[in-house]
Amino acid sequence: MAARPIDPSLFSSSLRRLGAAHRTDAERVPLARARGRVLAEAIVVAGADGARLPSGHRLFPADLGTLAARGLADVPCARRPTVAVFSSGDALRPPGQALGAGERHDAARPVLLALLQAMGLDPVAWPILPGDPQRAASALHDAAQAFDLVIACSEADGEGASRLSALIDGAIAAPFGERAPRAVLLVLPNDPVRLEAIWAATGEALIDAMQGVAGGLAPECDVAEVAAWVARGARFYDVREAEEHRLGMPEGTEPLPLSALEAGTASLPPQGAPLLLICARGRRSQRAAALLRERGFDEVASVRGGFDAWRSAGLPLASGGASAATSTFDADALARYDRHLRLAQVGAAGQQRLMASRVVLVGAGGLGSPAAFYLAAAGVGTLVLVDDDRVERSNLQRQILHTDAAVGSPKVASARDRLLALNPRLRVEGVEARLSPENVEALLRGADVVIDGSDNFATRYLVDAACRELALPLVYGAVERFTGQVSVFDAGRQRGRAPCYRCLFPEPPGADAAPNCAEAGVLGVLPGLIGMLQATEALKLLLGIGDPLVGRLLTVDALGMRFRELALPADPDCPGCGAHAVFDGYAAIETFCASR
Ligand SMILES: [Zn+2]
Repeated sequence: MAARPIDPSLFSSSLRRLGAAHRTDAERVPLARARGRVLAEAIVVAGADGARLPSGHRLFPADLGTLAARGLADVPCARRPTVAVFSSGDALRPPGQALGAGERHDAARPVLLALLQAMGLDPVAWPILPGDPQRAASALHDAAQAFDLVIACSEADGEGASRLSALIDGAIAAPFGERAPRAVLLVLPNDPVRLEAIWAATGEALIDAMQGVAGGLAPECDVAEVAAWVARGARFYDVREAEEHRLGMPEGTEPLPLSALEAGTASLPPQGAPLLLICARGRRSQRAAALLRERGFDEVASVRGGFDAWRSAGLPLASGGASAATSTFDADALARYDRHLRLAQVGAAGQQRLMASRVVLVGAGGLGSPAAFYLAAAGVGTLVLVDDDRVERSNLQRQILHTDAAVGSPKVASARDRLLALNPRLRVEGVEARLSPENVEALLRGADVVIDGSDNFATRYLVDAACRELALPLVYGAVERFTGQVSVFDAGRQRGRAPCYRCLFPEPPGADAAPNCAEAGVLGVLPGLIGMLQATEALKLLLGIGDPLVGRLLTVDALGMRFRELALPADPDCPGCGAHAVFDGYAAIETFCASR
Protein backbone atom coordinates (compact mmCIF):
# COMPACT_ATOMS: atom_id res chain seq x y z
CA MET A 1 0.00 0.00 0.00
CA ALA A 2 2.18 2.85 -1.28
CA ALA A 3 1.15 6.30 -0.15
CA ARG A 4 1.81 9.49 -2.07
CA PRO A 5 5.21 10.89 -1.12
CA ILE A 6 5.26 14.17 0.78
CA ASP A 7 7.28 17.05 -0.55
CA PRO A 8 9.80 18.24 2.05
CA SER A 9 9.72 21.76 0.62
CA LEU A 10 6.35 22.14 2.34
CA PHE A 11 8.33 22.40 5.55
CA SER A 12 11.19 24.54 4.38
CA SER A 13 10.74 27.22 7.02
CA SER A 14 10.95 24.61 9.77
CA LEU A 15 14.06 23.19 8.16
CA ARG A 16 15.73 26.57 8.14
CA ARG A 17 14.93 27.04 11.81
CA LEU A 18 16.32 23.64 12.67
CA GLY A 19 19.57 24.26 10.85
CA ALA A 20 19.94 27.59 12.59
CA ALA A 21 19.26 26.05 15.98
CA HIS A 22 21.99 23.52 15.52
CA ARG A 23 24.63 25.98 14.42
CA THR A 24 23.96 28.66 16.99
CA ASP A 25 23.87 26.21 19.86
CA ALA A 26 27.20 24.60 19.08
CA GLU A 27 29.76 24.83 21.86
CA ARG A 28 32.42 27.41 21.42
CA VAL A 29 35.70 26.11 22.76
CA PRO A 30 38.63 28.50 23.27
CA LEU A 31 41.41 27.61 20.89
CA ALA A 32 44.14 27.60 23.49
CA ARG A 33 42.33 24.93 25.47
CA ALA A 34 41.59 22.98 22.35
CA ARG A 35 45.19 22.43 21.40
CA GLY A 36 45.95 18.82 20.64
CA ARG A 37 42.55 17.44 21.58
CA VAL A 38 40.13 15.66 19.35
CA LEU A 39 37.40 18.18 19.40
CA ALA A 40 34.47 16.86 17.58
CA GLU A 41 33.30 14.60 14.85
CA ALA A 42 33.38 17.52 12.48
CA ILE A 43 34.29 21.16 12.93
CA VAL A 44 32.94 23.86 10.69
CA VAL A 45 35.05 26.96 10.98
CA ALA A 46 32.60 29.82 10.99
CA GLY A 47 33.45 32.75 8.75
CA ALA A 48 36.44 31.00 7.24
CA ASP A 49 35.13 30.66 3.70
CA GLY A 50 33.63 27.25 4.29
CA ALA A 51 36.75 25.74 5.86
CA ARG A 52 35.84 22.44 7.38
CA LEU A 53 38.10 20.30 9.49
CA PRO A 54 37.53 16.62 8.93
CA SER A 55 35.87 14.34 11.41
CA GLY A 56 38.10 13.43 14.35
CA HIS A 57 40.57 16.13 13.48
CA ARG A 58 43.16 16.99 16.09
CA LEU A 59 44.07 20.65 16.32
CA PHE A 60 47.79 21.37 16.09
CA PRO A 61 49.65 24.63 16.64
CA ALA A 62 49.67 25.21 12.88
CA ASP A 63 45.88 25.08 12.81
CA LEU A 64 45.70 27.49 15.69
CA GLY A 65 47.94 29.90 13.80
CA THR A 66 45.81 29.67 10.69
CA LEU A 67 42.62 30.23 12.64
CA ALA A 68 44.11 33.04 14.68
CA ALA A 69 45.20 34.73 11.46
CA ARG A 70 41.54 34.80 10.51
CA GLY A 71 40.69 36.51 13.74
CA LEU A 72 39.10 33.44 15.35
CA ALA A 73 39.63 32.99 19.05
CA ASP A 74 37.41 29.97 19.31
CA VAL A 75 35.71 27.39 17.12
CA PRO A 76 32.18 26.06 17.26
CA CYS A 77 32.61 22.37 17.82
CA ALA A 78 29.76 20.60 19.48
CA ARG A 79 29.97 16.86 19.40
CA ARG A 80 27.45 15.74 16.84
CA PRO A 81 24.48 14.41 18.77
CA THR A 82 23.44 10.84 18.15
CA VAL A 83 19.84 10.15 17.29
CA ALA A 84 17.78 6.99 17.19
CA VAL A 85 14.51 6.94 15.32
CA PHE A 86 11.84 4.39 16.08
CA SER A 87 9.36 3.65 13.43
CA SER A 88 7.18 0.72 12.53
CA GLY A 89 7.41 1.76 8.90
CA ASP A 90 10.35 2.03 6.53
CA ALA A 91 11.18 5.49 7.87
CA LEU A 92 14.92 5.25 7.51
CA ARG A 93 15.57 2.75 4.79
CA PRO A 94 17.80 4.20 2.11
CA PRO A 95 15.75 5.12 -0.96
CA GLY A 96 15.37 2.20 -3.32
CA GLN A 97 16.03 -0.48 -0.71
CA ALA A 98 13.37 -3.15 -0.69
CA LEU A 99 10.97 -3.26 2.24
CA GLY A 100 11.33 -6.10 4.72
CA ALA A 101 8.53 -8.55 5.48
CA GLY A 102 5.68 -6.78 7.25
CA GLU A 103 7.08 -3.31 6.62
CA ARG A 104 5.02 -0.66 4.94
CA HIS A 105 5.92 2.37 2.95
CA ASP A 106 6.13 5.44 5.12
CA ALA A 107 5.07 8.60 3.38
CA ALA A 108 6.58 10.82 6.08
CA ARG A 109 10.04 9.38 5.50
CA PRO A 110 11.42 12.05 3.15
CA VAL A 111 10.30 14.75 5.57
CA LEU A 112 11.91 13.16 8.56
CA LEU A 113 15.12 12.44 6.69
CA ALA A 114 15.27 15.98 5.38
CA LEU A 115 14.70 17.37 8.87
CA LEU A 116 17.47 15.31 10.37
CA GLN A 117 19.87 15.88 7.52
CA ALA A 118 19.30 19.59 7.85
CA MET A 119 20.62 19.17 11.38
CA GLY A 120 23.68 17.35 10.10
CA LEU A 121 22.49 14.16 11.79
CA ASP A 122 22.67 10.60 10.55
CA PRO A 123 19.97 8.89 12.52
CA VAL A 124 20.08 5.23 13.40
CA ALA A 125 16.85 3.40 12.69
CA TRP A 126 15.35 1.12 15.32
CA PRO A 127 12.32 -0.84 14.23
CA ILE A 128 9.39 -1.08 16.58
CA LEU A 129 7.59 -4.37 16.69
CA PRO A 130 3.93 -3.56 16.32
CA GLY A 131 1.73 -5.30 18.85
CA ASP A 132 4.60 -6.23 21.17
CA PRO A 133 4.64 -3.44 23.74
CA GLN A 134 7.10 -5.23 26.02
CA ARG A 135 9.76 -5.54 23.36
CA ALA A 136 9.08 -2.04 22.12
CA ALA A 137 9.51 -0.74 25.67
CA SER A 138 12.78 -2.57 26.15
CA ALA A 139 14.10 -1.40 22.76
CA LEU A 140 13.17 2.19 23.67
CA HIS A 141 14.87 1.77 27.01
CA ASP A 142 18.08 0.55 25.37
CA ALA A 143 18.03 3.42 22.91
CA ALA A 144 17.49 5.92 25.70
CA GLN A 145 20.71 4.72 27.32
CA ALA A 146 22.75 4.93 24.17
CA PHE A 147 21.60 7.98 22.24
CA ASP A 148 21.36 11.69 22.90
CA LEU A 149 17.92 11.88 21.40
CA VAL A 150 15.28 9.27 20.81
CA ILE A 151 12.60 10.07 18.27
CA ALA A 152 9.63 7.75 18.10
CA CYS A 153 7.39 8.09 15.07
CA SER A 154 3.78 7.21 14.92
CA GLU A 155 1.62 7.60 11.84
CA ALA A 156 -1.51 8.10 13.90
CA ASP A 157 -2.39 10.42 16.72
CA GLY A 158 -4.98 9.19 19.18
CA GLU A 159 -4.68 5.86 20.95
CA GLY A 160 -1.63 4.43 19.17
CA ALA A 161 0.33 7.59 19.79
CA SER A 162 -0.58 7.83 23.46
CA ARG A 163 0.49 4.21 23.92
CA LEU A 164 3.82 5.04 22.35
CA SER A 165 4.07 8.15 24.49
CA ALA A 166 3.53 6.07 27.62
CA LEU A 167 6.22 3.64 26.43
CA ILE A 168 8.65 6.51 26.04
CA ASP A 169 7.93 7.76 29.55
CA GLY A 170 8.46 4.25 30.89
CA ALA A 171 11.61 3.69 28.89
CA ILE A 172 13.40 6.79 30.05
CA ALA A 173 12.63 6.12 33.70
CA ALA A 174 15.49 3.64 33.72
CA PRO A 175 16.65 1.53 36.66
CA PHE A 176 19.27 3.90 37.98
CA GLY A 177 17.46 7.07 37.06
CA GLU A 178 19.52 7.11 33.88
CA ARG A 179 17.73 8.91 31.10
CA ALA A 180 18.05 10.24 27.64
CA PRO A 181 18.31 14.01 27.66
CA ARG A 182 15.28 14.09 25.45
CA ALA A 183 12.90 11.66 23.91
CA VAL A 184 10.23 12.93 21.60
CA LEU A 185 7.17 11.47 19.96
CA LEU A 186 6.51 12.72 16.45
CA VAL A 187 3.15 12.09 14.90
CA LEU A 188 3.78 11.86 11.17
CA PRO A 189 0.60 10.74 9.43
CA ASN A 190 0.84 9.19 5.99
CA ASP A 191 -1.74 11.66 4.73
CA PRO A 192 0.02 14.85 3.56
CA VAL A 193 -2.98 17.04 4.36
CA ARG A 194 -3.17 15.75 7.93
CA LEU A 195 0.57 16.11 8.31
CA GLU A 196 0.50 19.69 7.14
CA ALA A 197 -2.28 20.46 9.58
CA ILE A 198 -0.43 19.13 12.62
CA TRP A 199 3.07 20.05 11.47
CA ALA A 200 3.37 23.19 13.55
CA ALA A 201 3.10 21.29 16.81
CA THR A 202 5.26 18.38 15.57
CA GLY A 203 7.96 20.68 14.27
CA GLU A 204 8.05 22.60 17.55
CA ALA A 205 8.56 19.38 19.49
CA LEU A 206 11.46 18.40 17.27
CA ILE A 207 13.05 21.84 17.39
CA ASP A 208 12.79 21.92 21.18
CA ALA A 209 14.33 18.50 21.43
CA MET A 210 17.15 19.33 19.05
CA GLN A 211 17.93 22.55 20.86
CA GLY A 212 18.01 20.66 24.13
CA VAL A 213 20.50 18.22 22.66
CA ALA A 214 22.71 20.74 20.94
CA GLY A 215 22.84 23.13 23.86
CA GLY A 216 23.02 20.68 26.71
CA LEU A 217 26.15 18.71 26.02
CA ALA A 218 29.17 19.31 28.18
CA PRO A 219 32.63 18.96 26.67
CA GLU A 220 34.02 15.47 26.86
CA CYS A 221 37.42 14.27 27.84
CA ASP A 222 39.01 10.90 27.16
CA VAL A 223 39.81 8.51 30.01
CA ALA A 224 43.49 8.88 29.10
CA GLU A 225 43.29 12.61 29.76
CA VAL A 226 41.74 12.35 33.21
CA ALA A 227 45.03 12.17 35.10
CA ALA A 228 46.26 15.36 33.45
CA TRP A 229 43.04 17.17 34.31
CA VAL A 230 43.26 16.04 37.92
CA ALA A 231 46.91 17.12 38.06
CA ARG A 232 45.75 20.56 36.95
CA GLY A 233 43.34 20.72 39.87
CA ALA A 234 40.13 19.20 38.49
CA ARG A 235 37.95 17.27 40.90
CA PHE A 236 36.78 13.88 39.71
CA TYR A 237 33.28 12.61 40.56
CA ASP A 238 31.52 9.31 39.90
CA VAL A 239 27.85 10.14 39.32
CA ARG A 240 26.65 6.53 39.23
CA GLU A 241 24.49 5.23 42.04
CA ALA A 242 25.71 3.63 45.27
CA GLU A 243 24.89 0.11 44.13
CA GLU A 244 27.01 0.61 41.04
CA HIS A 245 29.84 2.08 43.10
CA ARG A 246 30.03 -1.25 44.86
CA LEU A 247 31.27 -2.77 41.59
CA GLY A 248 34.29 -0.53 41.80
CA MET A 249 34.99 3.14 41.18
CA PRO A 250 37.68 4.76 39.08
CA GLU A 251 40.64 5.56 41.30
CA GLY A 252 40.55 9.14 42.49
CA THR A 253 36.79 9.62 42.21
CA GLU A 254 34.42 10.78 44.88
CA PRO A 255 30.81 9.60 44.80
CA LEU A 256 28.20 12.12 43.61
CA PRO A 257 25.13 10.08 42.62
CA LEU A 258 22.97 11.64 39.93
CA SER A 259 19.82 10.75 41.87
CA ALA A 260 21.03 12.89 44.79
CA LEU A 261 21.86 15.74 42.41
CA GLU A 262 18.40 15.52 40.89
CA ALA A 263 16.75 15.37 44.29
CA GLY A 264 18.81 18.33 45.47
CA THR A 265 20.20 16.30 48.37
CA ALA A 266 23.79 15.99 47.15
CA SER A 267 26.49 17.93 48.93
CA LEU A 268 27.86 19.99 46.07
CA PRO A 269 31.55 20.20 45.19
CA PRO A 270 33.42 23.34 46.24
CA GLN A 271 33.18 26.15 43.69
CA GLY A 272 36.20 27.16 41.70
CA ALA A 273 37.74 23.91 40.54
CA PRO A 274 36.95 22.30 37.18
CA LEU A 275 34.78 19.21 37.56
CA LEU A 276 35.17 15.91 35.75
CA LEU A 277 32.18 13.60 35.83
CA ILE A 278 32.08 9.92 35.03
CA CYS A 279 29.10 7.55 34.81
CA ALA A 280 28.70 4.10 33.24
CA ARG A 281 28.83 5.06 29.58
CA GLY A 282 28.95 8.83 29.41
CA ARG A 283 25.23 9.63 29.28
CA ARG A 284 24.32 10.30 32.88
CA SER A 285 27.44 12.39 33.36
CA GLN A 286 26.01 14.73 30.70
CA ARG A 287 22.79 15.03 32.67
CA ALA A 288 24.75 15.67 35.87
CA ALA A 289 26.87 18.26 34.06
CA ALA A 290 23.74 20.12 32.98
CA LEU A 291 22.46 20.15 36.58
CA LEU A 292 25.79 21.40 37.91
CA ARG A 293 25.98 24.14 35.29
CA GLU A 294 22.53 25.29 36.36
CA ARG A 295 24.02 25.64 39.84
CA GLY A 296 26.81 27.87 38.70
CA PHE A 297 29.61 25.44 37.94
CA ASP A 298 31.07 26.69 34.69
CA GLU A 299 33.82 24.20 34.00
CA VAL A 300 32.26 20.78 33.91
CA ALA A 301 33.34 18.00 31.59
CA SER A 302 32.12 14.48 31.07
CA VAL A 303 34.39 11.47 30.66
CA ARG A 304 33.75 9.95 27.25
CA GLY A 305 32.63 6.32 27.38
CA GLY A 306 32.38 6.41 31.20
CA PHE A 307 33.30 3.56 33.49
CA ASP A 308 33.19 1.10 30.57
CA ALA A 309 35.95 3.00 28.79
CA TRP A 310 37.87 3.35 32.06
CA ARG A 311 37.85 -0.39 32.60
CA SER A 312 38.60 -1.24 28.97
CA ALA A 313 41.63 1.02 29.17
CA GLY A 314 42.82 -0.97 32.18
CA LEU A 315 42.88 2.12 34.40
CA PRO A 316 43.00 1.58 38.16
CA LEU A 317 39.93 1.03 40.30
CA ALA A 318 39.68 2.19 43.86
CA SER A 319 40.50 -0.65 46.21
CA GLY A 320 38.35 -1.38 49.26
CA GLY A 321 35.38 0.57 47.97
CA ALA A 322 32.17 1.35 49.71
CA SER A 323 31.23 -2.10 50.96
CA ALA A 324 32.11 -5.75 51.28
CA ALA A 325 30.56 -6.36 47.86
CA THR A 326 33.56 -4.78 46.21
CA SER A 327 35.82 -7.55 47.36
CA THR A 328 33.46 -10.15 45.85
CA PHE A 329 34.06 -8.68 42.43
CA ASP A 330 37.73 -8.75 41.68
CA ALA A 331 38.92 -7.69 38.25
CA ASP A 332 38.33 -11.19 36.86
CA ALA A 333 34.73 -11.29 38.09
CA LEU A 334 34.03 -7.75 36.92
CA ALA A 335 35.15 -8.64 33.42
CA ARG A 336 33.75 -12.17 33.34
CA TYR A 337 30.27 -11.23 34.50
CA ASP A 338 30.21 -7.78 32.90
CA ARG A 339 27.15 -8.48 30.73
CA HIS A 340 25.20 -9.70 33.76
CA LEU A 341 26.23 -6.71 35.84
CA ARG A 342 24.71 -4.44 33.20
CA LEU A 343 21.30 -6.05 33.55
CA ALA A 344 19.09 -4.35 36.10
CA GLN A 345 17.47 -7.75 36.78
CA VAL A 346 20.82 -9.32 37.65
CA GLY A 347 23.32 -6.65 38.67
CA ALA A 348 25.77 -7.03 41.53
CA ALA A 349 23.23 -8.48 43.93
CA GLY A 350 21.99 -11.05 41.41
CA GLN A 351 25.47 -12.09 40.38
CA GLN A 352 26.43 -12.55 44.02
CA ARG A 353 23.35 -14.69 44.41
CA LEU A 354 24.41 -16.87 41.47
CA MET A 355 27.94 -17.14 42.85
CA ALA A 356 26.53 -18.34 46.17
CA SER A 357 24.14 -20.84 44.54
CA ARG A 358 24.29 -24.60 44.38
CA VAL A 359 22.67 -26.45 41.49
CA VAL A 360 22.46 -30.23 41.31
CA LEU A 361 22.38 -31.71 37.81
CA VAL A 362 21.17 -35.26 37.66
CA GLY A 363 22.93 -36.64 34.60
CA ALA A 364 25.95 -35.26 32.75
CA GLY A 365 24.70 -36.35 29.35
CA GLY A 366 22.66 -34.73 26.59
CA LEU A 367 20.62 -32.37 28.77
CA GLY A 368 23.19 -31.93 31.51
CA SER A 369 25.91 -30.90 29.04
CA PRO A 370 24.44 -27.64 27.75
CA ALA A 371 22.77 -26.85 31.07
CA ALA A 372 26.02 -27.26 33.02
CA PHE A 373 28.02 -25.33 30.43
CA TYR A 374 25.77 -22.30 30.59
CA LEU A 375 25.35 -22.40 34.37
CA ALA A 376 29.13 -22.55 34.67
CA ALA A 377 29.53 -19.64 32.30
CA ALA A 378 26.87 -17.69 34.21
CA GLY A 379 28.86 -18.08 37.40
CA VAL A 380 26.65 -20.40 39.44
CA GLY A 381 29.02 -21.02 42.34
CA THR A 382 28.65 -24.74 42.91
CA LEU A 383 27.61 -27.34 40.36
CA VAL A 384 27.00 -30.88 41.55
CA LEU A 385 26.98 -33.45 38.75
CA VAL A 386 25.57 -36.89 39.48
CA ASP A 387 26.29 -39.55 36.87
CA ASP A 388 27.75 -43.05 37.01
CA ASP A 389 28.35 -43.49 33.27
CA ARG A 390 31.57 -43.40 31.33
CA VAL A 391 31.89 -41.44 28.10
CA GLU A 392 31.11 -43.53 25.02
CA ARG A 393 31.77 -42.52 21.45
CA SER A 394 28.02 -42.63 20.72
CA ASN A 395 27.54 -39.87 23.34
CA LEU A 396 29.59 -37.33 21.44
CA GLN A 397 26.84 -36.63 18.88
CA ARG A 398 25.06 -34.52 21.53
CA GLN A 399 26.82 -34.60 24.92
CA ILE A 400 29.04 -31.61 24.22
CA LEU A 401 30.69 -31.57 27.63
CA HIS A 402 32.73 -34.59 26.57
CA THR A 403 35.49 -34.79 24.01
CA ASP A 404 36.81 -37.58 21.88
CA ALA A 405 39.83 -37.81 24.15
CA ALA A 406 37.54 -38.46 27.13
CA VAL A 407 36.00 -41.62 25.71
CA GLY A 408 36.27 -44.27 28.40
CA SER A 409 36.66 -41.87 31.34
CA PRO A 410 33.94 -41.17 33.89
CA LYS A 411 31.49 -38.53 32.64
CA VAL A 412 31.70 -36.55 35.87
CA ALA A 413 35.49 -36.28 35.56
CA SER A 414 35.33 -35.26 31.92
CA ALA A 415 32.57 -32.75 32.69
CA ARG A 416 34.50 -31.31 35.60
CA ASP A 417 37.59 -30.68 33.46
CA ARG A 418 35.65 -28.90 30.77
CA LEU A 419 33.58 -26.77 33.14
CA LEU A 420 36.63 -25.63 35.08
CA ALA A 421 38.40 -24.84 31.84
CA LEU A 422 35.50 -22.53 31.00
CA ASN A 423 35.22 -20.97 34.44
CA PRO A 424 37.97 -21.71 36.97
CA ARG A 425 36.09 -19.79 39.68
CA LEU A 426 33.54 -22.59 40.05
CA ARG A 427 33.32 -25.39 42.50
CA VAL A 428 32.37 -28.55 40.58
CA GLU A 429 31.47 -31.63 42.60
CA GLY A 430 31.37 -34.74 40.47
CA VAL A 431 29.52 -37.61 42.06
CA GLU A 432 30.23 -40.83 40.20
CA ALA A 433 27.26 -42.74 41.45
CA ARG A 434 23.86 -43.85 40.34
CA LEU A 435 21.05 -42.04 42.06
CA SER A 436 19.39 -44.52 44.43
CA PRO A 437 16.78 -44.57 47.18
CA GLU A 438 19.66 -44.57 49.64
CA ASN A 439 21.59 -41.56 48.36
CA VAL A 440 18.98 -39.35 46.69
CA GLU A 441 18.25 -37.09 49.66
CA ALA A 442 21.89 -36.72 50.61
CA LEU A 443 22.82 -35.72 47.06
CA LEU A 444 20.01 -33.23 46.58
CA ARG A 445 19.92 -31.65 50.04
CA GLY A 446 21.25 -28.11 50.08
CA ALA A 447 20.57 -27.48 46.40
CA ASP A 448 18.91 -24.24 45.37
CA VAL A 449 17.66 -25.79 42.12
CA VAL A 450 17.71 -29.36 40.78
CA ILE A 451 17.96 -30.05 37.06
CA ASP A 452 16.69 -33.38 35.87
CA GLY A 453 18.70 -34.56 32.91
CA SER A 454 18.27 -38.27 33.54
CA ASP A 455 17.39 -40.86 30.97
CA ASN A 456 15.29 -43.35 32.92
CA PHE A 457 12.02 -43.30 34.76
CA ALA A 458 13.27 -44.76 38.03
CA THR A 459 15.67 -41.82 38.44
CA ARG A 460 13.05 -39.26 37.41
CA TYR A 461 10.53 -40.54 39.98
CA LEU A 462 13.19 -40.61 42.69
CA VAL A 463 14.34 -37.06 41.93
CA ASP A 464 10.74 -35.86 41.82
CA ALA A 465 9.96 -37.43 45.19
CA ALA A 466 13.10 -36.03 46.82
CA CYS A 467 12.39 -32.54 45.48
CA ARG A 468 8.92 -32.69 47.03
CA GLU A 469 10.27 -33.96 50.34
CA LEU A 470 13.12 -31.42 50.46
CA ALA A 471 11.00 -28.58 49.02
CA LEU A 472 13.31 -27.94 46.05
CA PRO A 473 12.35 -26.55 42.65
CA LEU A 474 12.91 -29.14 39.91
CA VAL A 475 13.61 -28.15 36.30
CA TYR A 476 12.41 -30.99 34.13
CA GLY A 477 13.46 -31.70 30.57
CA ALA A 478 13.06 -34.64 28.24
CA VAL A 479 13.86 -35.40 24.61
CA GLU A 480 12.98 -38.10 22.13
CA ARG A 481 13.70 -38.25 18.40
CA PHE A 482 12.75 -34.74 17.21
CA THR A 483 10.68 -33.54 20.15
CA GLY A 484 11.33 -32.31 23.64
CA GLN A 485 9.58 -30.84 26.65
CA VAL A 486 10.45 -28.59 29.58
CA SER A 487 8.67 -27.60 32.76
CA VAL A 488 9.35 -26.52 36.32
CA PHE A 489 7.93 -28.61 39.15
CA ASP A 490 7.65 -26.89 42.48
CA ALA A 491 5.13 -28.92 44.44
CA GLY A 492 7.54 -29.18 47.37
CA ARG A 493 7.38 -25.45 48.03
CA GLN A 494 3.92 -24.77 46.61
CA ARG A 495 1.86 -27.83 47.46
CA GLY A 496 -1.52 -27.82 45.73
CA ARG A 497 -0.62 -24.82 43.58
CA ALA A 498 2.37 -25.98 41.54
CA PRO A 499 2.44 -29.42 39.89
CA CYS A 500 5.00 -32.19 40.37
CA TYR A 501 6.32 -34.65 37.81
CA ARG A 502 3.60 -37.12 38.72
CA CYS A 503 0.88 -34.57 37.96
CA LEU A 504 2.17 -35.02 34.39
CA PHE A 505 3.06 -38.73 34.51
CA PRO A 506 1.29 -40.33 37.49
CA GLU A 507 2.90 -43.67 36.68
CA PRO A 508 5.81 -44.69 34.51
CA PRO A 509 4.72 -46.04 31.15
CA GLY A 510 5.64 -49.57 30.18
CA ALA A 511 9.05 -50.02 28.63
CA ASP A 512 7.61 -50.50 25.14
CA ALA A 513 5.63 -47.24 25.29
CA ALA A 514 8.56 -45.08 26.32
CA PRO A 515 11.81 -45.99 24.63
CA ASN A 516 14.89 -44.04 25.72
CA CYS A 517 17.39 -42.28 23.42
CA ALA A 518 19.46 -45.40 23.02
CA GLU A 519 16.49 -47.18 21.53
CA ALA A 520 14.57 -44.44 19.74
CA GLY A 521 17.38 -42.13 18.65
CA VAL A 522 17.44 -38.37 19.00
CA LEU A 523 18.50 -35.50 16.78
CA GLY A 524 21.80 -34.32 18.30
CA VAL A 525 20.89 -30.67 18.76
CA LEU A 526 17.61 -31.35 20.50
CA PRO A 527 19.02 -32.05 23.98
CA GLY A 528 21.09 -28.88 23.47
CA LEU A 529 17.95 -26.86 22.91
CA ILE A 530 16.07 -28.38 25.83
CA GLY A 531 19.07 -28.30 28.17
CA MET A 532 19.56 -24.61 27.51
CA LEU A 533 15.90 -23.95 28.24
CA GLN A 534 16.44 -25.80 31.52
CA ALA A 535 19.48 -23.66 32.30
CA THR A 536 17.43 -20.54 31.54
CA GLU A 537 14.71 -21.62 33.96
CA ALA A 538 17.33 -22.48 36.59
CA LEU A 539 18.91 -19.02 36.35
CA LYS A 540 15.50 -17.35 36.63
CA LEU A 541 14.69 -19.42 39.71
CA LEU A 542 18.04 -18.61 41.31
CA LEU A 543 17.63 -14.90 40.59
CA GLY A 544 13.93 -14.80 41.39
CA ILE A 545 13.13 -13.06 38.12
CA GLY A 546 10.61 -13.55 35.34
CA ASP A 547 7.85 -16.14 35.14
CA PRO A 548 9.13 -19.68 35.68
CA LEU A 549 7.55 -22.52 33.70
CA VAL A 550 5.54 -23.53 36.73
CA GLY A 551 2.13 -24.94 35.77
CA ARG A 552 3.13 -24.90 32.11
CA LEU A 553 4.62 -27.58 29.89
CA LEU A 554 6.62 -26.25 26.95
CA THR A 555 6.85 -28.69 24.07
CA VAL A 556 9.23 -28.39 21.16
CA ASP A 557 8.77 -30.02 17.78
CA ALA A 558 12.05 -29.55 15.96
CA LEU A 559 10.87 -30.83 12.59
CA GLY A 560 8.03 -28.32 12.37
CA MET A 561 10.02 -25.92 14.59
CA ARG A 562 7.00 -25.31 16.74
CA PHE A 563 6.99 -24.37 20.41
CA ARG A 564 3.73 -25.03 22.19
CA GLU A 565 2.73 -24.32 25.75
CA LEU A 566 0.27 -26.52 27.58
CA ALA A 567 -1.33 -25.60 30.87
CA LEU A 568 -0.21 -28.08 33.52
CA PRO A 569 -2.12 -27.40 36.73
CA ALA A 570 -1.46 -29.28 39.96
CA ASP A 571 -3.58 -32.42 39.98
CA PRO A 572 -5.59 -32.71 43.23
CA ASP A 573 -5.57 -36.52 42.78
CA CYS A 574 -1.86 -36.71 41.97
CA PRO A 575 -0.25 -39.77 43.60
CA GLY A 576 2.81 -37.62 44.33
CA CYS A 577 1.48 -34.27 45.57
CA GLY A 578 -2.33 -34.62 45.69
CA ALA A 579 -4.40 -34.29 48.84
CA HIS A 580 -4.43 -38.05 49.37
CA ALA A 581 -0.89 -38.79 48.28
CA VAL A 582 1.10 -40.99 50.63
CA PHE A 583 4.89 -41.09 50.64
CA ASP A 584 6.11 -44.59 51.43
CA GLY A 585 9.77 -43.86 51.07
CA TYR A 586 12.17 -43.96 48.15
CA ALA A 587 12.58 -47.72 48.06
CA ALA A 588 8.87 -48.10 47.36
CA ILE A 589 9.21 -45.77 44.36
CA GLU A 590 12.04 -47.79 42.92
CA THR A 591 10.08 -51.01 43.37
CA PHE A 592 7.04 -49.44 41.77
CA CYS A 593 9.06 -48.28 38.73
CA ALA A 594 10.72 -51.67 38.36
CA SER A 595 7.35 -53.38 38.31
CA ARG A 596 6.24 -51.48 35.23
ZN1 LIG B 1 1.81 -33.94 41.55
